[in-house]
Amino acid sequence: MDMNLNDKALETLTKVYGHHAFRPGQRELVEGLLSGRDVLGVMPTGSGKSLCYQIPALLLPGTTVVISPLISLMKDQVTALKLRGIDAAFLNSSMDLDLYRETAFQAACGSYKILYVAPEKLQTPGFQEMCRQMDIPLVAVDEAHCISQWGQDFRPSYLKIPEFVASLPKRPILGAFTATATPNVRKDILENLKLINPETAITGFDRPNLSFSVYSPDDRDETLIGLLRDRFHQSGIIYCSTRKNVEAICAMLEKEEFPATRYHAGLEPEERRRNQEDFLFDRKRVMVATNAFGMGIDKSNVSYVIHYNMPKSLEAYYQEAGRAGRDGCDADCILLYKPQDVITARWLIEHTDPNPDLTPEEQNQVRENDLERLKWMTFYATSRKCLRHDLLHYFGEKSPDSCENCSNCVPICEHVDITKEAQMILSCVARTEQRFNEEVIVSLMRGVLPYPPPEGISPAELTTFGLMDDYEESAVQGMVRALVDQGYLTPDEKSCLKLNDLSREVLFSGRRVAMRKELKKREDTAGEELFQALQRLRYNISAREYVAASALFSDSTLRDLCRILPRNKKDLAAVDGMGLFKANRYGDQILQLIRLIAPPPKEEKKKPEKIKPENRPSGERGAFAAYKDKVIAKGSTEAYQPWTKEEDQRLTREFEEGKTVKELSEIHKRTQGAIRSRLKKLELV
Ligand SMILES: [Zn+2]
Repeated sequence: MDMNLNDKALETLTKVYGHHAFRPGQRELVEGLLSGRDVLGVMPTGSGKSLCYQIPALLLPGTTVVISPLISLMKDQVTALKLRGIDAAFLNSSMDLDLYRETAFQAACGSYKILYVAPEKLQTPGFQEMCRQMDIPLVAVDEAHCISQWGQDFRPSYLKIPEFVASLPKRPILGAFTATATPNVRKDILENLKLINPETAITGFDRPNLSFSVYSPDDRDETLIGLLRDRFHQSGIIYCSTRKNVEAICAMLEKEEFPATRYHAGLEPEERRRNQEDFLFDRKRVMVATNAFGMGIDKSNVSYVIHYNMPKSLEAYYQEAGRAGRDGCDADCILLYKPQDVITARWLIEHTDPNPDLTPEEQNQVRENDLERLKWMTFYATSRKCLRHDLLHYFGEKSPDSCENCSNCVPICEHVDITKEAQMILSCVARTEQRFNEEVIVSLMRGVLPYPPPEGISPAELTTFGLMDDYEESAVQGMVRALVDQGYLTPDEKSCLKLNDLSREVLFSGRRVAMRKELKKREDTAGEELFQALQRLRYNISAREYVAASALFSDSTLRDLCRILPRNKKDLAAVDGMGLFKANRYGDQILQLIRLIAPPPKEEKKKPEKIKPENRPSGERGAFAAYKDKVIAKGSTEAYQPWTKEEDQRLTREFEEGKTVKELSEIHKRTQGAIRSRLKKLELV
């Protein structure tokens, strides 16, 4: 052999996966497994965990068995492997008996490089018999935290894995992989799986491509719609705390003509499946869901995750928000925070039904822990410091004080001067003897007498009554809250607003007051047309071949295509995430699209052919007639015939088969320009 295994691993990474370098942690784990060592990989979701066992599986002789608890993920992984030209299959309870038997037979014959199995299968005699006939160099345990009773996802069937491993004729190498592992869980994985001196890689939880923001909107619906308008062509998830909210938000978005669908545990399984698929296949770009959605969903091109309600803990928040940007592209994680969320969450924690398996003391402890976690979540939502720093600090990771990629480091707001308004509000508080709360002050400023009328208030005598009657209620409310937030007003224990030294400076010493006003984000339109055309092509292929769009190409690969503009298959295969197999299979269509929308500079400069003056008959009609004759004489005999439905259908089919514009022009006897504009009209490019 002229190449060692590690070089081969890198070669496989490039050829099969189309990546040029390992991400942090991957190399150690791949090389560990290839050298015959057990490994433990703790890596956040989206950091390329599966690649760590798939590459060794391709290089080691025999069939690697991957134990995975998530049926949908298993299916996606196998589809993705097949798209890379790798023989892979899965065995789980979702299959009918015939297919199961056929797959098991093929597996026993050694037809697959990678075989995914559900943990429940490990104990069945048929499966064990099959495995004894196979050559199994490596067993990879995905979602390894399921073996720990500390974790929320504990699965008793995982405890049977060591028994299964011991039943094999030869002990395979063991690899354990997880995205969530506190020290307790990590210890459980090592002990329960009986890993021998494992190579361990724990990569950071920071996801630099995610931008974190917290908005405190007066009107969540309005803010949400504004955020979605800015992201109309992107795919994203909106998390709500209740089924009722999911229904309401989804209906509202549909009314606003957003391509939205919904997911929660109250829907029929059939509808859940269909909605989930609509989202995966990009038929619907916006998913409105409760936290029931997302486990086992492998969709890489999620560009934003918006939390309409605040979750109960930062663990839940980071896990859900982390579903954005798994392709490595920039993505937004936005929390819409309202103080009401804290009250609701607290109420829910205090009123959960007692778990009959726990003693009252244990029950109390669980509640205490939940309240503690809620407290940290609230700190995050109201933090003035770097949000990324707050998050990573919570997960025990050190990070700089400022990240320049969160709404506290780079405010998404501009500061507006509200000194005049602040003076009016503060005088109103003074003139009403600091006896009232926010609600009353807002009413008085707007010239609305609250009912019942506050004691001792006479609109005729109160000079500040109605001073802000041309402002919206929410605007006045926002200003009063800003004054409280910035310390110009202090609420007492009954929420009555009191003046202080700072407010006196505003009233008497000319101190200026500013407040933050949210700004809309700028949209990047460079290469947008090609990007959208590539998205449509991906959608067409995914519908035809019945695979999830993001398993074909991630958004990040499409963005790279728009940036690099490859002109031939060799350059195409070199694009990150492409690989030879896909370049050969879909290359013609992609290259054609690039030629059409982003022609090379030389072609771009080419001017349309001019008719020489001597051949040009006089008058406009004459010039056109001559041009028409010329086009027809050149072979485009159908150039001036209207397009029929049949011809459109034929054109669509031929284009999807990979025919070039030149070929299509010859077949249809029309000019290449006419073909191009028809393809555009049919939304094929
Ligand atoms: Zn920051």
